[in-house]
Amino acid sequence: MTTMSGVVLPGDSTVEHIQKDIPQPGHGQVLLKMKASSICGSDIRAIYREHLGAGPEAYQGVIAGHEPCGQVVQVGPGCRRLREGDRVVVYHIAGCGVCDECRHGYMIGCTSPFRAAHGWQRDGGHADYMLAEEATCIDLPDELTYVDGALVSCGFGTAYEGLLRLGVSGRDRLLVTGLGPVGLAAAMLGRAMGAGPIIGVDIAAERLRMARDLGLVDHAVVSDASAGDTIQELTGGRGCETSIDCSGSAAARLLALENTRAWGRCAFAGEGGEITFAVSELLIHRQISLHGSWVTSLRHMAELLERLVRWHLHPEAIVTDRLSLDQAARAYRLADAGASGKVCIVFDMS
Ligand SMILES: [Zn+2]
Ligand SMILES: [Zn+2]
Repeated sequence: MTTMSGVVLPGDSTVEHIQKDIPQPGHGQVLLKMKASSICGSDIRAIYREHLGAGPEAYQGVIAGHEPCGQVVQVGPGCRRLREGDRVVVYHIAGCGVCDECRHGYMIGCTSPFRAAHGWQRDGGHADYMLAEEATCIDLPDELTYVDGALVSCGFGTAYEGLLRLGVSGRDRLLVTGLGPVGLAAAMLGRAMGAGPIIGVDIAAERLRMARDLGLVDHAVVSDASAGDTIQELTGGRGCETSIDCSGSAAARLLALENTRAWGRCAFAGEGGEITFAVSELLIHRQISLHGSWVTSLRHMAELLERLVRWHLHPEAIVTDRLSLDQAARAYRLADAGASGKVCIVFDMS
């Protein structure tokens, strides 16, 4: 077998199946047999519906999927650590390796022309095989599944980074606005980091029910005109010490800010959009720290994988739909509908 199946996203909410030669690993690269490749909100927002964005968000017609997890089947020359059979999570961006952001492990922030993200500018995980740089592969602990690993490679990593930025601990209540996959991850990890009670807000009844049924939130609040009053009631009129917006919606960001306790910390992790608010009233006079948080670092991703084992947590708990590569069109339709939990393409359906 010298060719493999893969999926590209032409835009206009379509999915196209292609055949391509199985690539050979170059210097410092490994060939992975894909095991799991989940769909991220960014894939929907910036690629599937239409090709938005420039720079780091410019989709270049490559094989889609930036949440890849697989097993090393071939090791290129010059690799120093990985061996055939190793199970790995892939940090989905290969940076230049020598800029300040790359040296800190935040290849997401690399602005060099050498930067390439899987599923955006270089082939991603929606194929039987994927080439990865050894330097961006992280060992997947035996206790975790490939689906767990795929979810960590973007969404859970993003949620963890946001919570680290907030310094969440057992001293804090946590408000999560937007209970899509990143919001569900923030609730799950926030609890493990000690925060509570955890209040989750979303417009979708299915998502609220899922967050509650999985025990990820203590209070599931419908995002309507009275949501703010409800949160104030639940917190004795003070708001939450920490809050994180995972929706990207202006209304939800405002709700998060308004319901952050004075001297509290708020993070925006949900992408896109714009927001206008009374800066003095909401931010300055209430001494709020507001953080922007974009994906995570290699080191924090490795740290999260280690902690998940210790916490006996499986990110795959939030996966509602597992589909084969052949069913990619359905997988994208489901993810786009925004009512489900995480949608993941898996390669061994057994
Ligand atoms: Zn993503
Ligand atoms: Zn760089």
